[in-house]
Formats: sequence, C-alpha cells, structure tokens
Amino acid sequence: MSIILFIIFILSVAAPSSVLAQSDSITLSSPFNFELLLSGNFGELRSNHFHAGIDFKTQGAVGRPILAPADGYVSRATVTAGGYGRAIYVTHDNGYMTVYGHLDSFLKPIAERVREQQYNDGYFAVDVSFEKDEYPVSCGDVIAFAGNSGYSFGPHLHFEVRANGGTQLVSPMRFYLERLTDTKPPRVQAVALTPREGEGVVEGGTSTVTRKVVHSSVRDTLRAWGRVGLSVQCDDIMDNTSNKYGVYSIELYVDDSLRFSSRMDGYALADTRLINAWSDYERFFERGEWFLRSYILENNPLPLLAADRNRGWIDVDEERIYNVKYRIADFHGNTTFCKFAIEGRRDSISQLCDSTAHYLYWFINNTIAYEGMRLDVPSGQLFANTTLAVQEQPSRYGMSRCYNLNSAVVPLRKEARISLQVNDTLGLDPSKYYICRVGKKGSAAVGGEYKDGWITANIPCLATYEVAVDTVPPAVKPIAPKNWGRNGQIVFSIGDKGRGIKTFKGLLDGKFILFEYSSKSGRLTCNMRREKVKRGKHRLQLTVTDNAGNTTTIEETVIY
Ligand SMILES: [Zn+2]
Repeated sequence: MSIILFIIFILSVAAPSSVLAQSDSITLSSPFNFELLLSGNFGELRSNHFHAGIDFKTQGAVGRPILAPADGYVSRATVTAGGYGRAIYVTHDNGYMTVYGHLDSFLKPIAERVREQQYNDGYFAVDVSFEKDEYPVSCGDVIAFAGNSGYSFGPHLHFEVRANGGTQLVSPMRFYLERLTDTKPPRVQAVALTPREGEGVVEGGTSTVTRKVVHSSVRDTLRAWGRVGLSVQCDDIMDNTSNKYGVYSIELYVDDSLRFSSRMDGYALADTRLINAWSDYERFFERGEWFLRSYILENNPLPLLAADRNRGWIDVDEERIYNVKYRIADFHGNTTFCKFAIEGRRDSISQLCDSTAHYLYWFINNTIAYEGMRLDVPSGQLFANTTLAVQEQPSRYGMSRCYNLNSAVVPLRKEARISLQVNDTLGLDPSKYYICRVGKKGSAAVGGEYKDGWITANIPCLATYEVAVDTVPPAVKPIAPKNWGRNGQIVFSIGDKGRGIKTFKGLLDGKFILFEYSSKSGRLTCNMRREKVKRGKHRLQLTVTDNAGNTTTIEETVIY
C-alpha cells in the first residue's frame, strides 16, 4: 500500500461523528428520589426502531412522582392508544428536551388542558402544545406521575433526551452513569460470516454461517474465500438487575487493524428505521435474533457507524489465517474481547444464473410488472442492490393474485408501492377492499386506495401481498356491566378482524362522554367520576368504526 493510500485508510476509520450539539458540562439530575435501576437502555434493538431512551424502573409501582431534571417548561402533552400512552415533553433552558412516556397521570392543570382538548376533538388521542410561560418548571419540581400506559408491560418511565428542537436523540446514559452500577462486561453470543453475493463464499457455500461464542472465543475456524462480512450477536448485563441491555460500542479488528466501529451516542429521529439496514433483518424477522453487521450496506448512512474504505467487508484473497477480534464495550466502559480465525482457502465463487430473478439497484427507480401486479421501488428505498425472485402463490382470499416478492423479506428505508388487480366478480363497495401482507402466522392489513379495478398501497418491506376484503363490523362487547356502577367505570372490549379499528364515540344521554382506549388490552374505559356523571340511570350509546367504514353501534343502560 502506498503511503497516501495508507493515510486515507487510517482517516476513513475515524470515530463516528458525534451528535452531541450541546456542551459536555451540562448535567441532568435524577428524575426520581429513589435508587435508579434500568429495565432498558439507550439504542437497544427493537422491531423497526432503536430504543429512543432509557427505561427507569419505578419500584414495581405506578404513581411515583417524576422530578424535573433541569429548569425549563412543559412544552407538550400527548395521549395515544399504544406507543407512549400518556406522555409529556419538557423543553429545557440548557438546550435539551426531555420526554416522559407511559405516564400514569399528568399534573392537574395539564390534565385539565388535555381533557379540554379531548372534549373539543370528541376523541381521546390528543397532542397539545404549550407556550413557554404556561407551565414553567424548576429542577426538582414534580412534573408528572410514572405509570404503565400505552405500549408498556409493567410500570416504568420511558425517558428520552433530545437535541436540535427534538429531532435528534441523545444518549441519556452519560448523564446518569454515576447513579447506575455496572461492573459486568457485555456478552457475545454468536458471530456470523456472510459471503457477498457473487463475490465470496463461506464454508464453500453462498449462505451465512453462524458460530456460537463460548468463553469469548469460537472453537472452529471459518473457511472463506473472496469478499465476506461479519455480524455479531451480543448484549450487556448490569448489577442488581436480571435484565438484558444493548451494548455501547462495537469494534472489529482484522489482523489488528480496525475495520468497523459503532458507538451508540445518538441518532436522528428520522434515521430510526436504519436499524433494518444495520441488523440482519431477515434473521430478526425469521428467528427473533439480533445480529449486527460489521459492514455497512451501500444505502445505510447511519452516522453512528464507521468503517474502512471497504465499508467493513473483508477481502479474503490469500491462503492464510486471518485473525479477527471484536472489542465490545458497555456505557460504563466494561469491555469484552472475542477472538477467532477466518481461514483463507481458495474456492470457486459461484455467479448468479437465475434468469427469472430481477436485479434491483438501490440508487434508481425500479419497476416490476407481472400479471395483475405492479411494484414500484423508488430510488433510495433499498439498503443495497438486491436480487428479487418474484413468485406467485395460491391466493388465500381469491380477491386477487397473491405475490411473494422475495423468499426472504427485504426491508426498505421507508416504503415501496404495490398495485394489485382486484378480481371484481363480487361487486362489492370498493372501499371494502384492501391489501394485506400474508405471513406464516396470518395476514396483516396494509390498506390501500381503489381505482379502476386496481388497489394501490405503500408497503414497508418486500414480502407477500394480496387483496382481502373487510365487510365485517367491529366486535364490541360490554365487560361485566353489572359492576359498572359500583366500580364507577364503564368497560368494553373492542376488536376488528379486517383493517382494524379507526375510531369510536360514546354518548351518554345523547351527550359526548370520553372513553379511553388501550390498544394493549383492546379495552375502552370511561371513568364516570372523572366525567362527572350524576348518580342514577343513564342511556349509553357506543359507536365503533373500522378502517373499511364498517360500524357497530350498541346501546346499554348504565346504573351509577
Ligand atoms: Zn422505553
């Protein structure tokens, strides 16, 4: 290697660019007046997103007061059926914003503002913004009460730190390292070696080969030839808990030179789906296992990753042993090394010869048309050039042809567009048709618009799709109505088999009454005390509508 090339090589393995816009001297105090323990840390790998914050345990209870970690003001309150449930956003004088999810309740004046908005909208899910002078807070003030609302399965506080007007997620870990105890290093479970399509082989084949890691090493060598990429499965553990956490950094060395590194300092909110490019998506989708690539796909601009000029791909072009070393650290700096060998042995690299496959380039618009199906994959949506083998499958619903776009599901940065021709012999209302994704465990509604005999929908990945029809109204069932009066709570379970619940409305004696919806439990509840319902006999009417416009209305007598 010439000197100049060598210098370029060194520079290109520089540390990932920092997202920390604010000064390092800023501190945040504890949001609780008890010992901090985590049930989840920053950047953990979740389905289609990185964990945007850290999860503080709340002593197994709901209702613990949350204290402002710095001066500022409550700038936003939101209520949703899933996701963060009840949440507040605090804008701080120091330039950061903090977010609090899964709350049990708001402070009284904020609860009143939220309720006012819910009555104005006639719906429980709201997003309310506040001005700077409305709800100022000082460091240490109680700002809300922690809970288990939204998509939460046990009491905890989901806590985020954001910068750049809320668009950039910053690791909250660095503010709380001294309050958390972690003396245990990360653990490596397995490594995987993937041959690059048409350019490499592993163990004589074109498939990924996985090796278990035992006592930080891999017993057998991995035989390879040509261009190959490594992935790693790892996690972290901490003191005084039995939870598993994400790691902070991963470094890959081959023959002692750094080829790839990642550092979970932060990321842009808009980049969260790039987790599907960094991780082996197919592996997570099929087996629930997270393997993180130590090579960077062509259309993965995630700034927390860095690699050499080869984007981390390893060229095995000599018949010798390549010594591989992973250095994996947690947020506290505890470090694990994992060492193993790749044996370079000359082998024939098979070229692609499937003449029916489509070769899609990530940097151009791609269109594929089959009988009764058209697929548009816009430029920039694939994470890398992709070979697609489209196959027609037996249709489940008989409303259209069913197409499997590829045997392994292909993730997209945002979306592609599929159009399917509707088999229009039923003469149904066009709004009842929708595109669904067919999987092993059943089908999931994607939606879509009907026009001139075709239905078109945006799809988040290249999988199996066909048209289905939803003419069934939502199921609505009162839960123990005899107890409503005594408990002061009206409870229904609601569900929809086709396109899912869109909206609902409750009327008590003809007047709007607020129901809250939890997508986790599928239940609608109305707290009669909070709604100031008078004692006595009332007539309740509840209407639930699905996304295909099917409606169920039921009437019940409420004795309170
Ligand atoms: Zn969380």
